[in-house]
Amino acid sequence: MSYTQEISPDAKKIAIYGKGGIGKSTTTQNLSAALAYFNDAKVMIHGCDPKADSTRMILHGLHQSTIMDTMRDEGEDFELEDVRMIGFKDIHCVESGGPEPGVGCAGRGVISAVQSMIDLEGYPDDLDYLFFDVLGDVVCGGFAMPLRDGLAQEIYIVTSGEMMAIYAANNIAKGIVKFAEQSGVRLGGIICNSRKVEGELELMNEFCEAINSQLIYFVPRDNIVQKAEFNKKSVVEFDSDCNQAQEYRNLGNAIASNTDLRIPKPMAMDELETLVGKYGIMD
Ligand code: ADP
Ligand code: MG
Repeated sequence: MSYTQEISPDAKKIAIYGKGGIGKSTTTQNLSAALAYFNDAKVMIHGCDPKADSTRMILHGLHQSTIMDTMRDEGEDFELEDVRMIGFKDIHCVESGGPEPGVGCAGRGVISAVQSMIDLEGYPDDLDYLFFDVLGDVVCGGFAMPLRDGLAQEIYIVTSGEMMAIYAANNIAKGIVKFAEQSGVRLGGIICNSRKVEGELELMNEFCEAINSQLIYFVPRDNIVQKAEFNKKSVVEFDSDCNQAQEYRNLGNAIASNTDLRIPKPMAMDELETLVGKYGIMD
């Protein structure tokens, strides 16, 4: 099944993957806010993590009703307005949500959520960017859907210089290879969300080269991210003049102009260990 043609035909459809806690949702929201604010882009975020926290800063802390919760409460018969909310700079927000804990498969929830958005015509035709913020180090089942079915054409992997984050990035690259031919999905690059570990930039550059990709941007770690988060805002909305807002603006521009989309070449485990060992970085 391929959705590429059906959804928001002019949009760059992008999925953000990476290890849990690495900063996918933070990066996706700040990046979306920067594209909407500085470039006047029309942006939508579809959160695909049962944690359902992909849109909170755009919606000023509002915990929006997830598609899965709404389906459980109201059956299949719900309206677009029940699940899609509009936030900062007209950014459209949707959360897939998850099953009740211990019941059912979270991955399947992503598939139903996307399908119901398509049925409700919830992805506007005039979007410039559609972001899927996807759970996980593993690209399995429903969580593979955004890249398996042509929903997202361009993947960015968020990582840092820490071993487990790189290990996860390499696994995600394997998932992209698996589906590249059938869905046309490509890796747009690696986003380093810095943890300030020693030699991080060099390690990232080496890793990107080894997997046949590029470091699309190095996002510094900055406490203003948490400060903005505490105020339930993206950095751009909190203080559009601060340095970190400019960093997200630059990340947005790097993605906007990126045409270097590739099928990655994941590293073998022993190569990866040697690379990380060279920099002596452990979690
Ligand atoms: P994920 O979506 O990958 O699970 P989150 O986006 O929720 O991870 O990030 C976890 C935490 O890391 C966030 O609460 C945020 O405060 C912090 N964080 C992420 N990126 C940065 C950054 N560049 N600078 C400072 N803090 C950050
Ligand atoms: Mg998240």
